[in-house]
Amino acid sequence: MGRIRILPEIVANKIAAGEIVERPSSVVKELLENSLDAGASHFRLEVAAGGKQRIHAVDDGCGMGRDDALLAFERHATSKLRSAEDLLSISTLGFRGEALPSLGAVSRLTLETRSQQEPSGTRLEIAGGRLLSVQEAGLPAGTAITVSDLFYNIPARRKFLRSEATELSHITSVVMHYSLAYPEIAFQLRTLSGEPVNAPAVDSLRERVFQLFGEELLEQLVQFGPLTAESFSPSPNSGEAKTKKLENKEPPSEMQSMRLSGFLSRPQVQKLNRNSIYTFVNRRLIRDRVLLHAIQEAYHNILPRHSFPVALLFLEMPYEEVDVNVHPSKVEVRFRHQALVHNLVRDALRECLTAAKPVSTFPAGASQAPELPRGPSPSEPVRDAAPVAAAGFHLTQPALPPQAQSFRFEPTAAAEPRMEVTAASAAAPISESPSANIPPAVSNSELSELRPLGQIQESFIVAASPSGLWLIDQHVAHERILFEKFLSQRESGTVESQRLLMPYVLRLNASQQAVWDQIHSELEAAGFEVEPFGQNTVAVKAAPGGVKADDVEKLLLELVESIEEEKRAFSPEVVRHKIAASVACHAAIKVNTPLEQRKMEWLLSALAATRFPMSCPHGRPIVLKYGMREILKAFHRI
Ligand code: ADP
Ligand code: MG
Repeated sequence: MGRIRILPEIVANKIAAGEIVERPSSVVKELLENSLDAGASHFRLEVAAGGKQRIHAVDDGCGMGRDDALLAFERHATSKLRSAEDLLSISTLGFRGEALPSLGAVSRLTLETRSQQEPSGTRLEIAGGRLLSVQEAGLPAGTAITVSDLFYNIPARRKFLRSEATELSHITSVVMHYSLAYPEIAFQLRTLSGEPVNAPAVDSLRERVFQLFGEELLEQLVQFGPLTAESFSPSPNSGEAKTKKLENKEPPSEMQSMRLSGFLSRPQVQKLNRNSIYTFVNRRLIRDRVLLHAIQEAYHNILPRHSFPVALLFLEMPYEEVDVNVHPSKVEVRFRHQALVHNLVRDALRECLTAAKPVSTFPAGASQAPELPRGPSPSEPVRDAAPVAAAGFHLTQPALPPQAQSFRFEPTAAAEPRMEVTAASAAAPISESPSANIPPAVSNSELSELRPLGQIQESFIVAASPSGLWLIDQHVAHERILFEKFLSQRESGTVESQRLLMPYVLRLNASQQAVWDQIHSELEAAGFEVEPFGQNTVAVKAAPGGVKADDVEKLLLELVESIEEEKRAFSPEVVRHKIAASVACHAAIKVNTPLEQRKMEWLLSALAATRFPMSCPHGRPIVLKYGMREILKAFHRI
């Protein structure tokens, strides 16, 4: 007798459940996806004890007849796929036919359902994978599923569940995410003590964001799109933009209909991890490295290193272009044209950020961002104050304190305020402004109207314009000007180089030497003239114009060290940007430098001519504005 045997169905279902059902929120995710696939327009969820005791989901979708209701609990029973070919273009959220049998295997489950066409419905009960009863019942059209005592028959799993508050926060997060992807559907989440989500159907994503997070978050975000791959093309008129322009010629025809829309945070919003980045592909919430990387690149030189934005990104593309059959809980995908998707997203976002030209307002402390419920965070260390994680995603975070689950907008560590907040600005916090939901954006023409009045501590230029009072950090402003100038000269091969009186000798250790080999040719193109000079030593004979001879060593060492620190290879383009940022930083006017009126005027008008005048290449704000409205309010004139 052989030793291999086919596992009984009930065991196979438990095994599948192990992958699909990690915790109560994974149950919610599967139920929610089924309701959406069933065409529901209203989804209501009630949970008790963080879902550990009871999860009750009700929808008004198509419902099921008696035969289907029974079949639905067979493994691989689905109404959504017929052939292997269908797998290549999946338009529904579910397709594996595994969720219901898995849920039935690890809980006590009741299904009540009636299809629209039939006069009466079906109620069936399952526990631990066994069918206990099936009855005809008078029921409303639609489906209600109750999952009680999750993992009652798998104590080892039950032990891993966290506190009720934590489990509830994961559930809330799943419901919120899906409700963002489906504003036209009403979502309700009730607990025994409250209603964490109540979002009636609305017409737009913007209204849904408002419903869920309120005005405070909207203020921090720039809405964009929908952009299509076809229509999108960054303007080629500045160095920085041009280097980012699509290297890939025309997108192939099947990708031209790709659409991108969503919300991005302004540069002054800086998060310590990727938890506030949400990506949806064809309205499925997913976690994907390619998209995360594209977002990060879009913010390159806008946000400081190790800072992350808030982003809600919705990508729509032909179903054949994305394989969703990669992961049992369907949170990962594979793009057919991965590089193309990456570059299109990066360039489109970059363009939106540039166009938005968001300005920092007084007080600088307003850069504190409201919190979104946390999302996918595959590898990020957690440094935020009160970590919460999204369900359906593997968790690395510790349990959250109970008060954090309501998703209040607590301020988190954001950019260091670069100046003290004055009494006047404190008297008129921007959140009180009725116009605060209109994103404060400046145009280059507004900047060109700035009149310098003087300096504070020979470091910050004070300027006036018809729209308010401005403070400009002279060092970072000049940095931005030089950064863009340098990049455009680099593009056209016209970088100015100056010979050093004495060649400068730089010693590198082995790992620095490896970095050097990687960046050597970019350095040459950037106006550095360097030659090998014995073992692990190089001689620098010329440097880009504007960099003082005394600064050359520091600049090069900082550059090499910063690249070494990141321990990965960079594209020539990123290296080019890093060099440009270093050169700009070392050549820029320092703080504590007195400036004549003419020099200030020049600086402001050159800043107004830059492509991204609002933050320096390292992501710090350049300009703070105290708008007329705040001024008038502070003087009690309005
Ligand atoms: P899948 O979603 O992958 O098809 P499931 O096990 O989640 O597999 O569900 C099995 C089938 O049960 C679905 O294909 C669908 O036909 C039916 N079903 C599940 N939930 C609902 C619901 N809320 N409304 C209508 N039909 C449902
Ligand atoms: Mg399903």
